[in-house]
Amino acid sequence: MNPVDALIDALPAGRVLTDPDVAGSYARDQTFLQPGKPLCAVAARTRDDVVATMRWASEHRVPVVPRGAGTGLAGGAVAVEGCVMLSLARMTAIRELSPADEIAVVEPGVITADLDRAAREHGLMYAPDPSSYEISTIGGNLATNAGGLRCVKYGVTRDSTLGLEVVLADGRILGTGRRTMKGVTGYDLTGLFVGSEGTLGVITAATLRLRRAPAVPPVTIAAEFPSPRAAGDAVAAIVAAGCRPLLLELMDRGTLEAIDAWKNIGLDPGVRAMLLAQSDGRLPGDAEEMARLCEANGASFVAVPATPEETDELIGLRRLAYNAQERLGACLVEDVCVPRSVLPDMITMIERAAARHDAKICTVAHAGDGNLHPVFIFDRGLPEPPANVWAAADEVFRAALDLGGTLTGEHGVGLLKRRWLALESGPVVTEVQHGIKAVFDPLGIMNPGKAI
Ligand SMILES: Cc1cc2nc3c(=O)[nH]c(=O)nc-3n(C[C@H](O)[C@H](O)[C@H](O)COP(=O)(O)OP(=O)(O)OC[C@H]3O[C@@H](n4cnc5c(N)ncnc54)[C@H](O)[C@@H]3O)c2cc1C
Repeated sequence: MNPVDALIDALPAGRVLTDPDVAGSYARDQTFLQPGKPLCAVAARTRDDVVATMRWASEHRVPVVPRGAGTGLAGGAVAVEGCVMLSLARMTAIRELSPADEIAVVEPGVITADLDRAAREHGLMYAPDPSSYEISTIGGNLATNAGGLRCVKYGVTRDSTLGLEVVLADGRILGTGRRTMKGVTGYDLTGLFVGSEGTLGVITAATLRLRRAPAVPPVTIAAEFPSPRAAGDAVAAIVAAGCRPLLLELMDRGTLEAIDAWKNIGLDPGVRAMLLAQSDGRLPGDAEEMARLCEANGASFVAVPATPEETDELIGLRRLAYNAQERLGACLVEDVCVPRSVLPDMITMIERAAARHDAKICTVAHAGDGNLHPVFIFDRGLPEPPANVWAAADEVFRAALDLGGTLTGEHGVGLLKRRWLALESGPVVTEVQHGIKAVFDPLGIMNPGKAI
């Protein structure tokens, strides 16, 4: 029997999508990367569907690329030639939400913001909030260890993950972690799977930590600066002063112009950068202190939105930054992260790289985490970034590493960053990581060529 027929036989009707156009529609993420041609796609609805797919894939030695919503920015969910695209997007059940234990047990296709909304009905929240939270899935967030705006206070996805259910490459089901707040039985396999970009197994359920939603609305500050470096100085000062912002986001002039061209926000010509800071009121002095530190570091204007609606609008604009940048051309979205004390230096290095290589770079940053997204804009007609963009990106990566930072704060390595991996991970790290991969995936069928 031909392998695809065997897969159709192994799964309930309608799960295997063989039409090349339909399967092809699962083959890309948000990058410009050209996908390979998938053999087919599987739209899984249950864990059993995933088990059957993986058993079949092991038997026939077919590569499998897990996929959530395809919002990834590193090429992790891009099809490799002849693979099965395994979509988890239809596994959308919130199986349990326990206010008593402050946990939720969810399937991987749950949209991130839907879990947060469900938790808020019980006075709780799901803290990790990538800007894509209205479209990304929990499975994708787990596989990339996604960050977000609130992560400066509440940590990244890993910090909210207690346990996982994973289907391994050979179809075995692995339960990791626990539903307790503490636990040290054996190695931390949960931590290992979070951020593994679909290269070790397929996440089919997760036990996630919820937190009490703040009782009072947060206080928001918007500060305008005459240079991005001055905004970076303010961030470093806020961190050094021990403030605990709920979010601390930076947008440079290029980003603000892109938003202005779309949403007409009345951008003043002198504004070169904007900081958005929020404090959720647990430390009442924080908002005043952050405003003071912005002014002390050269802010030309500091404002507090008058109404909750104005606040939502402002934060909403920040969440739209990438969509606004995309309107300018094709984008290479980067993701370096540096120690927060050197954030101002990293901003200067990005500006230098842009000037030296004549590249258009718009930067947004989860500044409170030292996580910058320099977005390189290039001609939409080109199949991939031109040489000057790669040269500028290379300079930015090396600068981040020189400053004690990392190549990727939250988007993952995927395919895009593999070229630079050796600069950050020495030979021993590389060897150990390949050894781990071989334990879970001896046939090398789980998302091959990605992440490590
Ligand atoms: C507008 C916009 C804003 C963004 N903002 C942020 C941000 O603030 N912070 C941030 O971290 N990211 C951000 N991203 C990137 C992206 O949204 C995140 O990486 C997100 O976690 C990906 O989720 P997804 O469901 O789309 O996953 P996909 O793109 O489908 O997959 C991502 C990776 O996860 C793997 N994967 C997916 N599901 C599973 C599973 N169930 N089991 C095993 N592996 C799996 C895939 O193989 C792939 O390697 C943004 C993207 C966009 C387009």
